[in-house]
Amino acid sequence: MKISQALLDEVVAHALEDPGNEVCGLIAVADDGQRTATGVLRATNIHASPMKFEIDPMELLALHNQIEEQGQVLGAIYHSHVRSPPYPSQTDVNFARSWPGIEWLIVGLAAGEEPETRSYLIDVDSAAIEEVPIGVKPG
Ligand SMILES: [Zn+2]
Repeated sequence: MKISQALLDEVVAHALEDPGNEVCGLIAVADDGQRTATGVLRATNIHASPMKFEIDPMELLALHNQIEEQGQVLGAIYHSHVRSPPYPSQTDVNFARSWPGIEWLIVGLAAGEEPETRSYLIDVDSAAIEEVPIGVKPG
């Protein structure tokens, strides 16, 4: 996806606010086929856990509707990894299979290092994980 530095900073700031637990949310993109991020919507990790995240289905539906009411589409689900590198876990892969075509953006918070942000597409049928570039634009 393409994302402004300001929006990417919002995602990283969310992760840093609760560095002991995985945080999560959605990234809306313009409905232009270019995957240009237009907004960051925070969600609640119902597990409040450093090991896993899950968004309540009703909250996920409400956020998804909010994005579509603004004429945008869901581009990515983001979450943080507190202890492990920013690479999809088996749990993430299983969850992703319900969300074809959505990028998985993960913020890795390894101790003492700068947060590392990576994005992936996860194939619904084969569960193959493909890293995709994050094009960061200034501003
Ligand atoms: Zn994960």
